[in-house]
Order: sequence, then C-alpha cells, then structure tokens
Amino acid sequence: MASEREHALLKTRLAQGAALAGIAGAGYLAAKVHSVLAGLTEPKDPFDWKPERGATVLLKGAGVLDVKRGQMLKERGVLFRDGQILSVIATRDLGKVDADHVFDCANKFIIPGLINCHVHSMMPGAALIDLPLLLSVKRQTVRNMEECPIHGVTTVRDASGIAGLLNDIAEMIEGLEILGPRVVSCGPSLKPRGGYPEFNRKVPGFVSNKYGDTCLYVDDPESAREAVRCAVGQGARFIKLFFDDRSLFYGHKKLPVIGDEAVSAIIDEAHRLGRRVSVHQSQLEGFRRAVRLGVDDFEHVPVDGVLKASDVKAFMKDEHCLTPTVSVGMALGIAPVGDPARDDPLVAAMQVEREYILHELAPVFAEAAINRANEKMLAMYADGKAGTGRGAKGMFDPGLYVESFASKNPNIHLLHEAGATMCCGNDGGTPMNWPGMLAEEMKLLEWFDLSRMDILRSATMNAAKLLDMESELGSVEAGKLADLVVLSADPTKDIRNVERVEAVFRSGVLLHKAGVFPEESGDLASE
Ligand SMILES: [Zn+2]
Repeated sequence: MASEREHALLKTRLAQGAALAGIAGAGYLAAKVHSVLAGLTEPKDPFDWKPERGATVLLKGAGVLDVKRGQMLKERGVLFRDGQILSVIATRDLGKVDADHVFDCANKFIIPGLINCHVHSMMPGAALIDLPLLLSVKRQTVRNMEECPIHGVTTVRDASGIAGLLNDIAEMIEGLEILGPRVVSCGPSLKPRGGYPEFNRKVPGFVSNKYGDTCLYVDDPESAREAVRCAVGQGARFIKLFFDDRSLFYGHKKLPVIGDEAVSAIIDEAHRLGRRVSVHQSQLEGFRRAVRLGVDDFEHVPVDGVLKASDVKAFMKDEHCLTPTVSVGMALGIAPVGDPARDDPLVAAMQVEREYILHELAPVFAEAAINRANEKMLAMYADGKAGTGRGAKGMFDPGLYVESFASKNPNIHLLHEAGATMCCGNDGGTPMNWPGMLAEEMKLLEWFDLSRMDILRSATMNAAKLLDMESELGSVEAGKLADLVVLSADPTKDIRNVERVEAVFRSGVLLHKAGVFPEESGDLASE
C-alpha cells in the first residue's frame, strides 16, 4: 500500500502531467490549425480579359451548337458586344465581318454557357465535420464558385444557402471581384418546424439580420404568404419547398410536411410575385402531392418505388421542369462490402465512379481537408458501420439510393420518355459533389438513356426555362447574353468533351481560358 507521501507525490505528478498534456494539446491544436490554414489553395484571378465598352468581339470559324434545332452548325462566327450576342454569322459571311477583337476558333466548338440547375454554393461537399473541414469551409465556398467557369458553368441555381451571404457572394462575382458564375438563388427555403431537412434550422434573429435566413417556417396559409414575401425580400428568384415526409437518415423517422392549404397559398403568392415554386421530393408520396397541388418544378426524382403510368400522365398534364440530380444518389448510394447489391452492374459501376471522383476529380474541385472527410465517410459506409454507431440517426442511409440504382431508377427514363423538360443539376455541395462538377452529372444522365443532345439541352435551353431567363440564356442566338463556352472537341460526339474547356465567357467577359486559347490573331495579340 502506498504511503500518504507517495500518494501526494503521485497526485502532484498527475496534475503536472495533465498540465503538460494540456499545453501539448493546445500546441498540437495550434499547429493543426496553422497547417490546415497554410495548406488552403490561393484565390484565383476573378477574370482573364474584359473587352472595352462598345468593342465588338468575334469568335471566328467554330462549330456552334444550335440547341433548338439539335445540331452542331459548322464553321460559324459569334459576334458580341457589351455582353450581348449581336449575331451568329454564316460560313459564307465570315470574311465580310470586321470586329475589334477576333479570336480564331477554327476546329473548336462553341456551346451556350452551362447552367447547373441545382447547387448549394455554401456547402463544402462533405458530410463528416471535423476541425480541418470547418477551417476550410470559407475557402471552399469561394472555390465552389471559382471552379464553375473553369469547367464551363456560367450560371448556377442555388437551392438553399444563407440568403444574405449568398447575395454578397453573387454581387462580388457580378462585380468581377471573385471568379464565379451568375448566381440565381431561392433565398431562404420554406419548411415546417422539424420538417426535412431536419439538419437545417432557422437561425436566431440577430444572426439572420446580419447574414440572412437559411429557412423560414410555415405553419398555415397566412405564414405561408408571409414567408414567400420574406424570401423574395431576401433575394429569392424562385421558391423552394420540401415534401419528403420521411427522414433520409437511418431509421427514416416520420417528418412533418407543410399542409395542402399552406402549399396552395405559397404557390398563389409566389406566382403573384412572378416566382416559380420548386419542390424537393425524393419519395413517391411527395412527387404525387406536388403534381396534385400544382407545384411548378421538381428537384430530384423518387427513389423509393416506380411511378405508375397514371403518375406520369398526371405529371405531363402541366408544364414542369425536372432536375433529377443523379450525382447525389450516386455519391451516397454506397453498398457495404459483402452486400449482394454490389454485384448489380449499375451499383458496381457507381462504386468505380466514386473511386474516380475521390481520387481524380475531388483534388481538382475541393480543399484537402474536404477530400479527407469524404475518404473517411466512404470507408465508414463501406464497412457498414455508419448505421450502427451512436450518431447513426444523423447519418444518411444509403439503402434507398442503392436500391434505386440497382433497379436503374426507371423514373428518370419514364419521365424523359414522356417528354418531361429535363434539367441538369448535380446538387453540388453535397458529399463528393461540387457546383463546377456538372460534366459528371451530364455523363451520368447518359447512363439513364438521355441522348447527348437532350443532355446538352438539359444544361442550357431547358435550364434557362427553369430559371425563367429564356430571353437571356440557354442558346447561342442574337439578343442573348454572351455566355459562351469554347471547347476543343465536339460534345455531340462524346458528352465528356464538355470537359475540354478552352475558354469561357460570361456576359462577354473572358473569365477563364486554358491551353492555347486564343490562337493569337487580331488586336489581342498586341495587347
Ligand atoms: Zn439540394
């Protein structure tokens, strides 16, 4: 038995040890913070070149994608001035047109600026939150924006973030202070207390006064109308609702949804203010409700069963846009090792695709800490531990997505075949998925039997309709904004060619160029 003196000594030593451990811990923490911050990427230039006011710019000799007629026109010219397309010039007239700046685009292909129809600009693209990830979020938000033009995306439709902060970012992009796409956002989303997404909570007044709301609560028709007015006041260009009545987390807890009368009031008030109403629905029940209540646009696609012919017919009776967001299901549809679903060809292909994203694309689009968080998440799901741990109720259950892919989600095909207006959006901001990564969604849509031309339309012409910006965006035509992507290969031959970006203009400003663009000719060579 230890004597009292030994006891006292031990106590002192333990206290000293704890203090030392504390100091070492603080030192370790400081070193960790420092190493994460020092490892963040540098901001990119906000733009490459801006034509002077009144100057004409000619992109000469390229193939030009005519999305309306569904063909790649050969050897044309695109002439623009002050951010607006003046004309698409026929081959025979190319020699007659003079411009202040001429870019030789022979053997290149011009498509309309791509529109990512569903993103969360302010989400990091990972779900497992740790200190390095938190330290990287601010930089990643800006990077989410920067990577868009680099990859041909000139407009994003943001389907919920922190309204005020997002408005500030959008303004900085417009002012060419940071590199990024045009941002069209829903402002704060509308939801019932405790409803989906249950991780998204209304922020206290003193926070929302400064940064804006993430969501607004709706209880009845009166609060519904008030919420629509408030969202529009915070910059909403469309109104976003949620119809999932079950959690997507393990356990699939039942969740409240906004009542029918309140939904009707939302639609009425939104239309009065000239805004379309869009609904998140990933389950049949929500899809059917949205059709019945006359919601305009559909985010995602039901994954818990197959639509009946009567559902498709009812959907097609009105004009709706549908953004299936295949990427998010693909990222989260992880079958654990040993699960027989892994043998399904599409589930297996998705597994290979996830590895490709993690190792090849993620380093291009995201900060290191975010990629590590995704690696950790994938490992957790692969060994089947995600659903059994203490925090399981806060973790996505991949089961529904796995099943939906194993059956090659026929709903996308059914609606597309019926003639639905398909829009391309990847839910960028969700795990392993970033707003600039639209080419991946385009590639995946091909797996669901969309033709290359229909995929190109889904990210241009159809997207412009969804944004209510058909007169400004979505095609290369006189009078529209000069949002143009120059590619080195023809995307109507292989959809992956949308990744071969040579130059990107947004409203006539050259935001980004790669490779040898421009092949110096005209005035730019001497500048
Ligand atoms: Zn989303």
